[in-house]
Amino acid sequence: MKKILVGGAGGFIGGHLVGALLQQGHQVGAVDKKPLDHWYQRHADADSKTLDLSLKEACEEAVRGGYDEIYNLAADMGGMGFIENNKALCMLSVLINTHLLMAAKKHGVPRFFYSSSACVYNGDKQRDFNITALKEADAYPALPEDGYGWEKLFSERMCRHFREDFGIVTRVSRYHNVYGPHGTYDGGREKAPAAICRKVITAIQNGQPVIEIWGSGEQTRSFMYIDDCVKGTQMLMNSDCAEPLNIGSNELVSINQLVDIVEEIAGVKLQRNYNLSAPKGVNGRNSDNTLIKQIFNWEPGTKLRDGLEKTYRWIYDELTVARKEGRVSTVNRY
Ligand code: NAD
Repeated sequence: MKKILVGGAGGFIGGHLVGALLQQGHQVGAVDKKPLDHWYQRHADADSKTLDLSLKEACEEAVRGGYDEIYNLAADMGGMGFIENNKALCMLSVLINTHLLMAAKKHGVPRFFYSSSACVYNGDKQRDFNITALKEADAYPALPEDGYGWEKLFSERMCRHFREDFGIVTRVSRYHNVYGPHGTYDGGREKAPAAICRKVITAIQNGQPVIEIWGSGEQTRSFMYIDDCVKGTQMLMNSDCAEPLNIGSNELVSINQLVDIVEEIAGVKLQRNYNLSAPKGVNGRNSDNTLIKQIFNWEPGTKLRDGLEKTYRWIYDELTVARKEGRVSTVNRY
């Protein structure tokens, strides 16, 4: 049993990770800047605190107490709609990782995990819809997503140098689009799978069989189910893999195909309106899983159809309750 701190525990991935760690019998400290009643999941057995981890003093308070490991999942982030319009806020997350690393060094925490992103990859390698999957070396020469991607790449390197210079074991994942229940599905920070589920459900509940799609719908992506994300995260944290590693599905679909799947789950066909001026990100992005398979003999394998079914059902229930109670949203409160 270890004593483990999770930053960003009130968020989507953090909430699931805390649940898994507790189930495995670890002692867990959980921190997020949101008030506790706004956390997506609250686990009674975790020591949960509201702290703003961009502040040095708050990081020191969070880290005190003899932790064996820190998972940093805290970041000001969201889907393309958020990161294209909030580049400064995204870059300010650099304070969170920097201050957490400094506190880890000061208090002798030996192992540290940082959640980076596929947004670090060179934009020139993501211009085609029929993309060649991105391997870890494709982050350089550097041309990451403006704002959010630059912060991720910088913080990756900060982890590297804390490892080399100060001996903290740092592990860095590059997540490719994670989705699942207990995450953001409205309010402007949601990502494509949750947004499309919400739009389909709302179209049905409002009796208006129309859906707005951002871009041409031909953009391609892969989407990883949350259970695979949590499993891969822990495998990486407990491994010898010192370099950043892709943790993502390689089941590539276009946004139009994603909508097809959600429509099939919902048993509906909607008229598609394409908003070509909405944020849409790069044309194509997929995860090359050669390295993760080599290291762990494993890769994220949940079929998109299966994961979306669970996600759809959860968002459906959330929206149904919200509707009954006269609220638009139950979740996305920042
Ligand atoms: P999320 O927004 O659901 O969770 C992030 C949490 O961090 C939020 O609860 C937020 O309140 C908290 N936070 C923000 N600023 C903070 C601060 N100053 N102090 C304390 N807490 C703060 O996002 P998520 O999807 O769970 O993502 C977790 C991590 O994984 C992030 O670093 C994100 O960039 C990375 N990531 C996620 C995805 C994805 O598809 N979800 C993809 C690539 C990378």
